[in-house]
Amino acid sequence: MSLKNKVAVVTGAASGIGEQCARKLAAQGAKVVIADLSLKNAQQVATSINDGGGSAFAVEMNVVDEEAVNRGIDAAAEKFGSIDVLVSNAGIQIVNPIENYAFSDWKKMLAVHLDGAFLTTKAAIGHMYSSGRGGSIIYMGSVHSHEASKLKSAYVTAKHGLLGLARVVAKEGGPRGVRANVVCPGFVRTPLVDKQIPEQAKELGISEEEVIKHVMLGDTVDGEFTTVDDVANTVAFLAGFESAALTGQSIVVSHGWYMQ
Ligand code: NAD
Repeated sequence: MSLKNKVAVVTGAASGIGEQCARKLAAQGAKVVIADLSLKNAQQVATSINDGGGSAFAVEMNVVDEEAVNRGIDAAAEKFGSIDVLVSNAGIQIVNPIENYAFSDWKKMLAVHLDGAFLTTKAAIGHMYSSGRGGSIIYMGSVHSHEASKLKSAYVTAKHGLLGLARVVAKEGGPRGVRANVVCPGFVRTPLVDKQIPEQAKELGISEEEVIKHVMLGDTVDGEFTTVDDVANTVAFLAGFESAALTGQSIVVSHGWYMQ
């Protein structure tokens, strides 16, 4: 489906990967909804897209709050007429060895990644069904949807869980034109990754340079970080894909850090 005039909601779109996905979808003609915790930050991104000739609208949304999700998705559908694309991207990272991993942190991680994906899907899919046009749901997974790393028990568990959710949504939504896929990036230099470099160095007893060289990029084919643009291009490809031939899949964008 062409993205021209399609309506795309992107969660966690005020920063990093989500922001670039929103900018890319807008550049390809979609009307984009910038959903994030801070309305002010979301508005800054929306204003910048509108100033550049795109069409964007900001909503305040905590993806773990069912009422806030429903309110934000309904406001988006009212503003732009429908929902055609959902990029469930909002995420956080907390690293710790499992013996020190606070139960409250575990629950917070699963909530943001999994409750957030469930609630936004539940809210958006009704609009996709009622428009009669179907749609495309894209979950921001990770190489950690397929592979494990030390210190990331909750993150790896949550990101693996998104594969299961996407497959169910693909099966349920298929007959009504809704596709669901997972994009799985390698390490991308965003605030989420910058924060964990010193944290991993401390926990693993190595330098920050070693975390970057060995933990983050050691298994890549070329020692390069994945970029926000690499991920946004993949999201735009999935959002605009024309048929249900591509559904229930995950696409790994990681410079070979993980190969399926
Ligand atoms: P980021 O910190 O730059 O951006 C995350 C955004 O999500 C922020 O704007 C934040 O406010 C928002 N957010 C956090 N909790 C939220 C909530 N409860 N409700 C609504 N918004 C919330 O991080 P990023 O690196 O761009 O990460 C985006 C996604 O990509 C995450 O799901 C992350 O797990 C995934 N990912 C990142 C990398 C990486 O290397 N950066 C790799 C693979 C996957």
